[in-house]
Amino acid sequence: MRECFELRDVDAGGRIGELTVPRADVTVETPALLPVINPNLDTISPRRLAEEFGAEILITNSYIIYGTDDVREAALEDGLHDVLDFPGAIMTDSGSFQLAEYGEIDVTTEEILEFQHAIGSDIGTPVDIPTPPDVSREQAEDELATTQERLEIAADVDTGEMLVNAPVQGSTYPDLREDAGRHAAETDLDVFPVGAVVPLMNDYRYDDMIDAVAGAKRGLGADAPVHLFGAGHPMMFALAVAMGCDLFDSAAYALYARDDRYLTVRGTRHLDDLDYMPCSCPVCVSHSPDELRALPDREREEELAAHNLHVTFEEIRRIKQAIRAGNLLELVEQRARAHPTMLDGYRALLDHADQLERSDPVSKGAFFYTSHESARRPEVRRHHRRLERLAVPDALFLTEGSTDGGDAYDDTWRVQPPFGPFPRELSKSYPLTAEVPDRTDRGALAAAADGVARLVEDNPDTEFALGHRGWPADVLARVPDRVERVGLSSDAE
Ligand SMILES: [Zn+2]
Repeated sequence: MRECFELRDVDAGGRIGELTVPRADVTVETPALLPVINPNLDTISPRRLAEEFGAEILITNSYIIYGTDDVREAALEDGLHDVLDFPGAIMTDSGSFQLAEYGEIDVTTEEILEFQHAIGSDIGTPVDIPTPPDVSREQAEDELATTQERLEIAADVDTGEMLVNAPVQGSTYPDLREDAGRHAAETDLDVFPVGAVVPLMNDYRYDDMIDAVAGAKRGLGADAPVHLFGAGHPMMFALAVAMGCDLFDSAAYALYARDDRYLTVRGTRHLDDLDYMPCSCPVCVSHSPDELRALPDREREEELAAHNLHVTFEEIRRIKQAIRAGNLLELVEQRARAHPTMLDGYRALLDHADQLERSDPVSKGAFFYTSHESARRPEVRRHHRRLERLAVPDALFLTEGSTDGGDAYDDTWRVQPPFGPFPRELSKSYPLTAEVPDRTDRGALAAAADGVARLVEDNPDTEFALGHRGWPADVLARVPDRVERVGLSSDAE
């Protein structure tokens, strides 16, 4: 276990954790949002972020501080906490983003880390190479090698109590992300940003983003705190948390406010298009859209930024409550309905159901089946895996209905979509207590048929029959031929 990070609650790949930041003498509860502060231009003051919004940690760019004479001198003299007037933990970025945008920066890893330490940063960042998506594999490998050399240099720099980020790169190659994660976890460094995903999010490629994070997570292991670097839209937090991200940074709250964009958990709206305020934060209950539009630029920007922060922090709290209650995937499923590309992201998450299953708790409060995607959840995979450990008699009747017709068999098991077969005594145990709609869909039937197939294949010496309520031919085709099919009338109980 890493000393600075402790896990408290887990749901799917999501977790509530505690990140201990010794230099700030602060413990940050994760998932956490780090508002981005531009030291030259703050829309909402860091003091207000802490007191009004409850921000425990923020992030600012050390390269901007380094390059701005008066801010640099003040930071060196008084320390960042005084300059920014922020009581929580302060993370600093190194300027890798500027490197990506403008081609070059002129400091070494040692210099920028020592500088971050000197100005009083609590979590520093080395200069890595943020390789963009879709580059050649050769470029991704070469740049990753450079990043890895710099992480090794960074691990040797004496930074006292300052924690140090170890960015995980690898472009859109999940296996390189996995290698990068493994290498980063083996260094002495502390926090693990998954880097260069901003272009994926700008293009709404949430599925590729999930694949990149899943790769990084396989390499990093469960005990590493993971920062989805540059991800600040609350719409995708639940999805990213479910894949195992712990930290998010938002520049979006201020950048979007600057051009009258209004964040919601279902996407971005433009202030011009709002007839009503779909929110109950202090900004939205005290202004109508017309009143907001009538404000002078600077005030309007500040009010919109405040709204954007309120919804962003609110979503983080909602996600934590969902993890605690064990219904994070239900929340992800709701968010996936906001935009087709979010649905792609959710479907990509389910492609990693086996990976999620390793951390998913054995028992939770409830399982609500709310779409055919629910059939691919980790709980269904786990039930199928569990079937191989169950003892079966010589002849077994599996049925969606009552025991009628099962007299010729040694025992009768229930079949419930999407899980498939299970012995009666398990019917009160999670996830077989799931709430499933009466009007079952094909996804649930197919998953149930796969469960039957699994049980039959695990028990070649047992004779099986399957009582089903009108399963379509392509679903029945998933069940081995040697299983006798028994059609039940649809109202049989
Ligand atoms: Zn609001």
